[in-house]
Amino acid sequence: MLYDMAVRFLEAEIAPRYEEFEKAEKFDRESWLKAGANGLLCASMPEKYGGSGGTYAHESVIAEALGHVGTDGFGIALHNAIVAPYILHYGSEEQKRKWLPRMATGELIGAIAMTEPGAGSDLQGVKTRAEKDGNQYRINGSKTFITNGQLANLIIVVTKTDPEKGAKGTSLIVVETDEVEGFERGRNLDKIGLKSNDTSELFFNDVRVPTANLLGSEEGQGFVQLMQQLPQERLLIGAQAISMIERALAVTIDYVKERKAFGKPILDFQNTQFKLAELKTEATVGRVFYDNCVARHIESGLDPVTASMAKYWLTDLQCKIVDECLQLHGGYGYMNEYPIARMYRDARVQKIYGGTNEIMKLLIARSL
Ligand SMILES: Cc1cc2nc3c(=O)[nH]c(=O)nc-3n(C[C@H](O)[C@H](O)[C@H](O)COP(=O)(O)OP(=O)(O)OC[C@H]3O[C@@H](n4cnc5c(N)ncnc54)[C@H](O)[C@@H]3O)c2cc1C
Repeated sequence: MLYDMAVRFLEAEIAPRYEEFEKAEKFDRESWLKAGANGLLCASMPEKYGGSGGTYAHESVIAEALGHVGTDGFGIALHNAIVAPYILHYGSEEQKRKWLPRMATGELIGAIAMTEPGAGSDLQGVKTRAEKDGNQYRINGSKTFITNGQLANLIIVVTKTDPEKGAKGTSLIVVETDEVEGFERGRNLDKIGLKSNDTSELFFNDVRVPTANLLGSEEGQGFVQLMQQLPQERLLIGAQAISMIERALAVTIDYVKERKAFGKPILDFQNTQFKLAELKTEATVGRVFYDNCVARHIESGLDPVTASMAKYWLTDLQCKIVDECLQLHGGYGYMNEYPIARMYRDARVQKIYGGTNEIMKLLIARSL
């Protein structure tokens, strides 16, 4: 039911304006508020904090609807299944009451700022510093590649509270951007795909926040918190991958039935049939694996190694299948008016963010 409702909402409210968002290279706040009013924000947060009381399964269904409708650039999945859980799992009662209900309405738009110009895969190299000053933290540093960066007004910032201690000196601090001075948004970065999904540099110049904005009962827990939450982030990228794979196949099967060459539909060539038979098989294997990961995640939390497998394997498969589907469109596949062209551009980053696929293999290799 949630899936059907999400699809109806996205088809009615988001898809018709998607080109506009692609051109503007970001969404508008109104769409976020509408998503909140329609129950698509914070589905897995408890009802007492304004959510719908669901689980990751509900977030997955929303992410899959985004992919199936072709509105992948709407950054609500990250807000729902990545940012909000940090507050739920590590926030104090007061923090949860303060932030989650406004995240559920869309009044607060969430982002997570880990990456810096000098620290991507190697997160321990984060330089952004948070120094305690009375009952405040003073934050200095810069972040880059931050999803929702142009719109976000609740940002979880990965900082060093004790640079001497490396990973153990890392802390997550919430910055409510509407309430601070010294915070600046940099450029909305010019990407090759996912155009409607804004990605930004962020600058923190003596930004002061209350010490009560620290997530967790004491400083230095940030790295462990990140490691605990990354499996869900990686699984979510898997949801985005499998849903785009399914859409790519659906639009391609329609196309090859319509398009004719040498007097017959492209689908009548044995190469097309065999190619699509292979892709459909791989997509089915991917779907079964993804659903199995979701079931395990809901039951007892997916282990980091399997989550890394899901992220790496499903996104590699996504890029491969989308490329093959584009090929079956011929020259039309390269034209932006065909959905497969945008899928081709949008898919590529999936192998990079959320931990590159090489880092996923490192994590898997450690379990050998
Ligand atoms: C569109 C987009 C959205 C993003 N959104 C966010 C966001 O919301 N929040 C956020 O914090 N970050 C975000 N990121 C950042 C993303 O997570 C990083 O780009 C990613 O982790 C890689 O870091 P890097 O770009 O510094 O690459 P690097 O770490 O410099 O890696 C460069 C290459 O070296 C390889 N490499 C690095 N280390 C190793 C190793 N030990 N062994 C083998 N190979 C290695 C990598 O796999 C890669 O191929 C986003 C990025 C993009 C492009």
